[in-house]
Amino acid sequence: MQCEMCGKERELFKISIENSEMEVCKICSEHGEVIKEKVFRGSVSKDKVVRVVKGDYSKILKNSREKMNLKQEEVARKMNIKESVLHKVESGMHEPDIDLAEKFERFFNVELLEEYNEAKEFNSSSESKNLTIGDLLKEKS
Ligand SMILES: [Zn+2]
Repeated sequence: MQCEMCGKERELFKISIENSEMEVCKICSEHGEVIKEKVFRGSVSKDKVVRVVKGDYSKILKNSREKMNLKQEEVARKMNIKESVLHKVESGMHEPDIDLAEKFERFFNVELLEEYNEAKEFNSSSESKNLTIGDLLKEKS
């Protein structure tokens, strides 16, 4: 078996990054902080990766929208969602579900979701886009 990251013949571990699965060697699985916490040995399904909406989602969205110089109604129209929903989300009264959060992520090009546990070091701002392994995988899939 070949490691999907470095291509070396080694014993492989299944890891899960951003809903993608890879089989990599031990060295690669421990390579970066991004993937380190997401190593699953054995047959843990990728569904076990719990993603949650960031606590400051409302601030992130509001800032992003203002940066883009868009009104709530414009965003709602473009995204095909209700303006009242957007209003509630931005004011922090309504936490978007994962689907909606992903929609927002794509629209504003921000990170609204994080992994439930040790995803803290996966810190990404929309300003400085460091290309992480997770990003590379996203491009691929
Ligand atoms: Zn490797």
